[in-house]
Parts: sequence; structure tokens; C-alpha cells
Amino acid sequence: MDVLKKVPVREQDPKVRATNFDEVCLGYNMEEAQQEASRCIKCKNARCMTGCPVSINIPGFIKEIQDGNIEAAANIIAESSALPAVCGRVCPQESQCEGVCIRGIKGEPISIGKLERFVADWSRENGFVPKKAEKMNGKKVAVIGSGPAGLTCAGDLAKLGYEVTIFEALHQPGGVLLYGIPEFRLPKDTVVKTEIENVKKLGVKIECNVVIGKSVTIDQLLSEEGFSAVFIGSGAGLPKFMGIPGENANGVFSANEFLTRNNLMKAFRDDHDTPIARGKKVAVVGGGNVAMDAARTALRLGAETYIVYRRSEAELPARVEEVHHAKEEGVIFKLLTNPKEILVDENGWVKGMVCVEMELGEPDASGRRRPVEKVGSEFTIDVDTVIMSLGTSPNPLISSTTEGLEVNKWKCIVADETNGKTTKEGVYAGGDAVTGAATVILAMEAGKAGAKGIHEYLSNK
Ligand SMILES: Cc1cc2nc3c(=O)[nH]c(=O)nc-3n(C[C@H](O)[C@H](O)[C@H](O)COP(=O)(O)OP(=O)(O)OC[C@H]3O[C@@H](n4cnc5c(N)ncnc54)[C@H](O)[C@@H]3O)c2cc1C
Ligand code: SF4
Repeated sequence: MDVLKKVPVREQDPKVRATNFDEVCLGYNMEEAQQEASRCIKCKNARCMTGCPVSINIPGFIKEIQDGNIEAAANIIAESSALPAVCGRVCPQESQCEGVCIRGIKGEPISIGKLERFVADWSRENGFVPKKAEKMNGKKVAVIGSGPAGLTCAGDLAKLGYEVTIFEALHQPGGVLLYGIPEFRLPKDTVVKTEIENVKKLGVKIECNVVIGKSVTIDQLLSEEGFSAVFIGSGAGLPKFMGIPGENANGVFSANEFLTRNNLMKAFRDDHDTPIARGKKVAVVGGGNVAMDAARTALRLGAETYIVYRRSEAELPARVEEVHHAKEEGVIFKLLTNPKEILVDENGWVKGMVCVEMELGEPDASGRRRPVEKVGSEFTIDVDTVIMSLGTSPNPLISSTTEGLEVNKWKCIVADETNGKTTKEGVYAGGDAVTGAATVILAMEAGKAGAKGIHEYLSNK
């Protein structure tokens, strides 16, 4: 074994997986996990922990894996994270724990994410249940949204003895974990649902089909429904569009709608009748993780699929691993290309997309080189479906129905990042609703901060 290299993880063959929705990465088995754990030098000053937004005791759980005590490893992770099987699969470890791992200075860092996933999968297969609060404190807290921010906040408060109810607008809990991230990266029935069940086992109640701001307002929760505090973890689910001609045609989707139909409403399965565009040639506009997910989904539904992105490969915001997987599976990248118009046939359906070639100019405010149009370089891509993946912002429903709740110019809720406190007394917030579209682990960090803030507030009240 070469200690400078990660123990490789098994994956489905790209040609096979491009035609199915089964998970791409197969994870470590016991022997592989123990081998990988043995590469960790259990640093006294464990930099990996400073790179983890929820401060998991990484060397601690890795040592337990090495010694074969997987239940002990699961208990260590459960102290800090309610969603380890999710994080082990979708966290950008390369820029967090693994990005600062001492082993990575000479050689490859420890596969912390894959080891976390191994422990979480073992826990599921062996019926591991996190510990509940020993006694309740009689106080009720409402959490809005059942994504990673809401689930984490609810789980932490339940462990402290609060009676917590999550209100979720959709008919199933999980937020983006359920409706956004595809099955082939994050299996729903096994992984996501089990971790949500574990949060429920801490005593958290989840009420679906309740749209806060419509069914009931935050003020009513506080004044009429007996809740002493509210945490808003309502995410950033409102898609952006380009505003180009033809964008209203049939066959143009936001990535969120396309992915929701497929993931939450199971359009890819023959036993579900959710309609979805099974385009023959699909262009996904954008270069982030969401764009990669939409493209890889369209490909699995049988389309020739393009990523259309206005900057070059170096500026692609998606994780390197996601780009690599998309390419392996056959997604075609049209880089330095920007759409100008969607062409529409006489029945109102997409029949092509006019694009222009771009080149990179001087750096802009984000530090990335600004894409500039090459004059006269217009050309048409032959596509019948266009999926816009240009980012999302928070839905203004909650802020517009809650007096005294301040938002910034992007409609993100203004909240203190250390404790989630908003401008309205008793109301806390975190996750994408505050930061705009970000990551699972940052939403979890904000959920933890919100739970801490609410506990301090209610303890002193
Ligand atoms: C396709 C896709 C792929 C992604 N891939 C990754 C990845 O690989 N790694 C990563 O770290 N991050 C990824 N992200 C980002 C990550 O999923 C989000 O940053 C994270 O889910 C935000 O968590 P949250 O709890 O703040 O919000 P969400 O997960 O959006 O959850 C918010 C919940 O609130 C509910 N809600 C909204 N309004 C109301 C209301 N008025 N009343 C009641 N409920 C309401 C919503 O229905 C939703 O269930 C991805 C995002 C998308 C869209
Ligand atoms: S920094 Fe890397 S080698 Fe050190 S304890 Fe953390 S995972 Fe192990």
C-alpha cells in the first residue's frame, strides 16, 4: 500500500452508469476503510477539524475505524452532525477538511468524506440510532423548511430538550437533498430518508404541505400557536432566467423544476407518471454543480447533452469531481459560449438556440476574467430542450409576510452568522435563505448556530 495515495474507491463504470440512476460511487468496504484510516497520522493539531464547518472530531472517528469500532466512530460523528451519510457524499471536502489535511502536504489527503460515508452507511445497515434528550424543557420551537439547515437546527434543539416542529411546504421533507441533488449522487430512499428518520427519532415532528406565509404566518406561530421561537431555513429556491428572446417557449426549464420532476416526483421511473421533457438534444446553460446535475440527469433520460458556459473550463464553478464525472459519462462541454436567443417553432416549442462565442477579458469584481463577446461569431446549436441553471435566490414569501424581518437587496434574510438572530425578536434564520445558494455543510453550520442562538434566547427569557 502506498501511504501517499488514497485507497481508491469503487465506482460504477461510466458507460453503464450513463444509462441508469443508481449511485455512481460505491464507497469503501470495511477492509478498504481500515486501510485508508491507517494512513491518518492522528495529528495533535488536527487541521482537518478547522476545515470542517461543523467541527467533527475527525482524527477521533478515523482512529475508531482503524481499530474496527464503527459504532464508536458513529457516536463521535453524531455529536456534531445529523447528516453524515449526506455530507460524506456531497460535501466539497477538497476545499474543506481534506483541503487542509496534513497528509495532503506530501501526497494525497485522507479520504475523510469517504470514511464518514462508510461510518454512516454502516450505521444505517446496523440500525444505529442517535441519543435522545433525557428530559424535555417544555418549550416549543418552530422550524421552517426541512433542508439541511432546518433539520440540523431541529435536531440540535431536540437534543437540548425542546419540542420542535418543522413546517415544510413540499409534500416530503429534505429540501434540496430530496428534490435537487439527483439519486445517482445521493440515494433518497436509503440515505436521505434514513437520516431524516434519525432526526425524527430525536423527537422532532415534521408537518409537510404547510407553506409559511400562506397557510400560517410567523407572527401567528409566535402569538397563537404557542411557539416561543422560530428558525427560518427556507432555502433559496427561486430560479433566475437570462431574459433572452424565446425563454418562455415550451421545452425551456429552470434546473430546479427539471430536477424536482425527476428527483422528488420520480419522472425517471416507469412506475410514476410525472411528465418530463425527454429531449433528444438538451442544452444546459450554466457551469455550477446544479448545471452538472441537470446535464447528467438529461443524459440518463437519453439525450445528447451540452453544457453551455460563457467562461472557460478553469472558471467552471462546479466541483472538479462533478465535471470529471459529467465528461466521463459523455456530456459535451461548449465553453466560452453564451446564449443570445432561443428559437421557437410554429407550435411554441424550442427548435434551437443561437449562441455567440466569448473570449476572456480583464478580471471583474469577482476576480474572474470577464467574458467578452466575439463580434460576428453567432452560431446555432440544434437543441429541442433548454435548461437554465443560472443560480437561485430566496423566495420573498416569508419576508413579505413577516413584519420587522429585514432582508438585503438580494432578498436574503439579514441574520447574525454566529447565532442566526434576525431583526425580529424570537426569529432566527440560516442556510441558503440567509447566504443565497451555498452548500449543505454551510447550511448545517448555520442550523447549529441558530439552535445555539435560540437556546441562549430562551434560556434567558
Ligand atoms: C441541484 C443541486 C445540487 C447541489 N449539490 C450540492 C452538493 O453537491 N454539495 C453541497 O454541499 N451543496 C449542494 N447544493 C446546495 C445545497 O443543497 C444547499 O446549499 C442546501 O440544501 C441549503 O440548505 P437549506 O436548508 O438552507 O435549504 P433547502 O435545502 O433549500 O431547504 C429549504 C426547505 O424549505 C422549504 N420552504 C421554502 N419556503 C417555505 C415556506 N414558505 N414554508 C415552508 N417551507 C418552506 C423548501 O421547500 C425546502 O424544503 C446543491 C443544490 C442544488 C439545487
Ligand atoms: S489533518 Fe489529515 S492526517 Fe491529520 S488528523 Fe486530520 S485527517 Fe488525519
